[in-house]
Amino acid sequence: MSEPYLYTDDYMQASEYLRLVLPFLAEHKLPASPLNYQIAYDFISGGNLALKEALHELIKQPDEPSEKSLLALYKQHVVKDDKALESVRLGLQKIITNIRSGYDDSNEDLDDYVNSLNDFANVLNDSIDPAELAGEVQKVMENTRLKELSQQKFDSKMSDMMGEVETLRRQLEQVREESLTDSLTGIANRKAFDQILDQEIQHSIEQETSFCVVLADIDHFKKFNDTYGHLIGDKVLRFVGPTIKSCVKGKDTAARFGGEEFVIILPDTRIKGAEIVANQIRETISKNVLKDKARNQKYGKVTISLGIAQFKQGEQANDLLKRTDQALYKAKENGRNRVEIAE
Ligand code: GH3
Ligand code: MG
Ligand code: MG
Repeated sequence: MSEPYLYTDDYMQASEYLRLVLPFLAEHKLPASPLNYQIAYDFISGGNLALKEALHELIKQPDEPSEKSLLALYKQHVVKDDKALESVRLGLQKIITNIRSGYDDSNEDLDDYVNSLNDFANVLNDSIDPAELAGEVQKVMENTRLKELSQQKFDSKMSDMMGEVETLRRQLEQVREESLTDSLTGIANRKAFDQILDQEIQHSIEQETSFCVVLADIDHFKKFNDTYGHLIGDKVLRFVGPTIKSCVKGKDTAARFGGEEFVIILPDTRIKGAEIVANQIRETISKNVLKDKARNQKYGKVTISLGIAQFKQGEQANDLLKRTDQALYKAKENGRNRVEIAE
């Protein structure tokens, strides 16, 4: 499954991006607030394509982007969970404050150091008294040592802060992952699916390619629940979801569409290929006999019906899903445990 918007940059790469973030903010006259920092990071790293495109549009405008429009971008493309957003914001606030004070300290030290070198240069011009010269050399050496010490202090402060950035980034990644995961089955949820479907449509329009959507629905699941109870029904969902996911790979996405329905996106795939994948999934599910070893009870087989539709250029996501659903309905009507293709 192609996971959206995850921070996977390693430490070195992250440091490199971090160095570019402050100049970017300065260029667009944006204060280095945690929010702006986060957006600039995403923009520079290019990890969040939707955000990158949206921000690209925004900075093309004649006016500098306002904090309000950036907040809107952030909420739309980065984190929608307000509580998580707040905690990440607070964490970043602390880091930014540290970075600023680190820079300030170091710049002051640098100024002092440059001044002391200038003084030394003047002394060299004016004086040839060896004793005086020795004293000045001593001073410069002392200043250099102090400067090195403060540079070391700054470097280690910087590396502590980078560590904190990493930790926060990991937390943010986790929040995002959770918000895109179905808690029962552990595979992608409807929200993740909607996002990936939009991206896939966009990609197909730009690249003039096509992809397929497969909708799968468990057969007679109501009866299964009625016979064995909802908890066993949930177990079946926890079997079906990951099994479907294990049958697809690479760029493909398997998600829980809702209830006992699952959906698969197969990028750069036409009907023929999608039909093969759909039948493999169908067979893998129906081959398994579900049982509870502890209670020594067999629940028999579970089957699914599947509908496939291929994206048509110009079509909206809703229309594509409607056609997929119609194909699924046909599979149910034609006897279940089978695959049908949309008109
Ligand atoms: P069909 O073959 O036509 O799909 O029949 P069906 O019984 O599967 O279809 P129907 O839509 O009538 O019922 C779907 C059932 O799925 C209803 C509900 O009991 C069950 N279901 C939906 N979500 C969950 C869930 O999260 N857990 C459990 N245990 N059951 C669920
Ligand atoms: Mg259903
Ligand atoms: Mg069903």
